[in-house]
Amino acid sequence: MELPYAEPYKMKVIEPLYRSSRQEREQWIKEARYNLFNLKSEQVFIDLLTDSGTGAMSQYQWSEIMLGDESYAGSSSFFKLKNVITQLLDMPHFLPTHQGRAAENVLFSALIKEGDIVPGNSHFDTTKGHIEYRKARAIDCTIDEACNTSEFHPFKGNIDLEKLEEVFKKYPSDKIPLCIITVTCNTSGGQPVSMENIREVSALCHKYGVMPIFDAARFAENAYFIKTREQGFENKTIKEIVKEMFSYVEGATMSSKKDAIVNIGGFIVLRDKSLFDKASVFNIMYEGYLTYGGLAGRDLGALAQGLMEGTEFDYLEARIGQVAYLGEKLTQSGIPIQVPTGGHAVFVDAKKFLPNLPKEEYQAQTLAIELYIEGGVRGVEIGTLLADRNPVTRENRYPQLELLRLALPRRVYTNNHMDYIAAALKNIWDRRESITKGFRITSEAPIMRHFTVELERV
Ligand SMILES: *Cc1c(COP(=O)(O)O)cnc(C)c1O
Repeated sequence: MELPYAEPYKMKVIEPLYRSSRQEREQWIKEARYNLFNLKSEQVFIDLLTDSGTGAMSQYQWSEIMLGDESYAGSSSFFKLKNVITQLLDMPHFLPTHQGRAAENVLFSALIKEGDIVPGNSHFDTTKGHIEYRKARAIDCTIDEACNTSEFHPFKGNIDLEKLEEVFKKYPSDKIPLCIITVTCNTSGGQPVSMENIREVSALCHKYGVMPIFDAARFAENAYFIKTREQGFENKTIKEIVKEMFSYVEGATMSSKKDAIVNIGGFIVLRDKSLFDKASVFNIMYEGYLTYGGLAGRDLGALAQGLMEGTEFDYLEARIGQVAYLGEKLTQSGIPIQVPTGGHAVFVDAKKFLPNLPKEEYQAQTLAIELYIEGGVRGVEIGTLLADRNPVTRENRYPQLELLRLALPRRVYTNNHMDYIAAALKNIWDRRESITKGFRITSEAPIMRHFTVELERV
């Protein structure tokens, strides 16, 4: 019998969880104005709000916390990280930042101006926010298959080359400072981009004089899918695949809170020295001096170690295996999810889950609230609230997909937790017909409203 995968680590420190009652949760979510971001973490039993900064660090990463060099300039922790990045990504220039969105802020300050066009695959919300804040426009060129949750496609994060070329033909290249390839593509379901697509997008970008740039938050999970799904990569290591992926781009922004398994951190890598010099000025203004970029020396060390661990096959197999395990459990109950499951999360199709609820009453948000009340499980809406309003007309933008995202923190929960989540969702699934009323907005911010929006029951 072939041995199954098992986590290549064991637990050393544990954090107790409080199991609340349904009555308590009904009270708490009401007090939170039906926004799951407003809940206190102690009010949550299993927290699947995000996989960002929520991973468990290894003993080697915690050792780096003690070894951190807190010198303002030229700290050894910085050089440790620089060496790992050079070795892993083969990129000559690197700037540390305190998060991924900070990397976006710095790089886009150097690159994007009013009226610009930034094509890509389902830009992440902060990425889109930073583009639109500069009065530029993000154009989504993801393949159509990404929007059909029940159709199997191994690389649903791929960019549609025809859609991309249309953008390149329609606008002059001086209006298109970059094309963003998000690996894996968060918004469309943690879906990977194939090496072939990365190569072809890169070639098309270079043909039209546009810089291909990775939004690299989950680059290692993307590499795992290339290894396990794309012909010709079966025998390559994750680190070899990562190096090839980065060879096709001119740079990247990174949220280290994802695949580098740290609680805080980010960075920018670049090939071009003059762009690096330009971005460096913004880094000093917004983040900090070039060798710490808004992070403590100890954070840089933990990040360097996390990058090495996050690109190990056995770890990735257990991590992505757990996501698939939860996905299979839900599928067995008949619950509609995005297939195949992605790298970091299971996405429940809320439109299909709650067919009796009008989209104007926020289907995915309603399902997220139901799941919290049912089992104390906190997921997050990837739907109309997140899609926000059209900046010109101020009308709600109704996205094609209404998803409840269940993001799994790295190395944190067991498969018993997955069974519990599946049971809670099954209970809601069994009474789905009776859910006919959702929520309405009572207060919202002008941009990125989902973080602070307040709701009431219809
Ligand atoms: C998380 C994330 C970001 C933003 O990074 P932060 O560290 O949260 O600021 C950008 N892009 C993608 C794809 C992400 O997942």
